[in-house]
Amino acid sequence: GTTLVEVKGLKVHFPIKGGLLNRTVASVKAVDGVDLFIRRGETLGLVGESGCGKSTTGRAILQLIKPSAGSVKLDGVELTKLPPSQIRQKRSEMQLIFQDPFGSLDPRYTIGQIVSEPLENFRRGNSRAIREEVAHLLETVGINPLYVNRYAHEFSGGQRQRIGIARALALRPSFVVADEPVSALDVSIQAQVLNLLQDLQAQFGLTYLFVAHNLSVVKHISDRVAVMYLGRVVELAKSEALYEAPLHPYTQALLSAVPVPNPEIESRRKRIILEGDVPSPVNPPSGCNFHPRCWKAQAICREQIPPLEEKQPNHYAACHFPG
Ligand code: SF4
Ligand code: MG
Repeated sequence: GTTLVEVKGLKVHFPIKGGLLNRTVASVKAVDGVDLFIRRGETLGLVGESGCGKSTTGRAILQLIKPSAGSVKLDGVELTKLPPSQIRQKRSEMQLIFQDPFGSLDPRYTIGQIVSEPLENFRRGNSRAIREEVAHLLETVGINPLYVNRYAHEFSGGQRQRIGIARALALRPSFVVADEPVSALDVSIQAQVLNLLQDLQAQFGLTYLFVAHNLSVVKHISDRVAVMYLGRVVELAKSEALYEAPLHPYTQALLSAVPVPNPEIESRRKRIILEGDVPSPVNPPSGCNFHPRCWKAQAICREQIPPLEEKQPNHYAACHFPG
């Protein structure tokens, strides 16, 4: 398919203020040069350990956080240069599904009010049309429309996430960032919500950026997967290629930690144990920022940032010595 979202050199640096004059003394380089692209109609999984910048990347793509540098294009339109009024209009095309269905729905409003708010803001029809649309949306996500006057706290976590999804889809966006949409839910209902997201993708022609820290969750839902480390995408490939033949040493280490169900294969597998912790995003290492923990590092790795390049057909890696 054609590219819907294209991200180049995206940076989000948060200033740290300090000293008597409360000046900027340093910055947290939460996102430090992300490149990726998302094809129309696909699900791109974005994985990495907590603090690697994946949620911030999702929000910066949606312009919910202002990028410090770089380019974000949605359907060919450069979002980072749009004035706030036009960003607001673009909200109808791109939406966020939150991680926490408990914190993200305002307890003072009924679910009908919550789902209808974007429709009213964008004046999508008269009050009767909006009421009908809200009932339709609730039904679509598996919530009985007769509950429209109930409050969010009257619903379970899984139901609340469905209500949040109905709200996110109200304006019929083409692009949705789902930020760990099932990680706050009971394991027993995670699969139901994942199935719902997949059904809705087919029904509404959605393109997803699916953020997760768990490689096994994204494996089943993603067409392609991007792996993040310390503010950058280090590998991007079709799910099968990434899981079966990862090219970047960090991805290889992450995958070696995921147990294989077959005990025979499991007993013969080699674990890659990474030395040290993830470095601070305040003072990230030079060059390839994975170099202090990489068993393949050479002098060039400390000096030059490896660009994310297509090393094999449709398989991108940011490494001087991939494979
Ligand atoms: Fe390791 Fe060098 Fe590749 Fe970085 S660029 S992952 S340090 S081999
Ligand atoms: Mg997060």
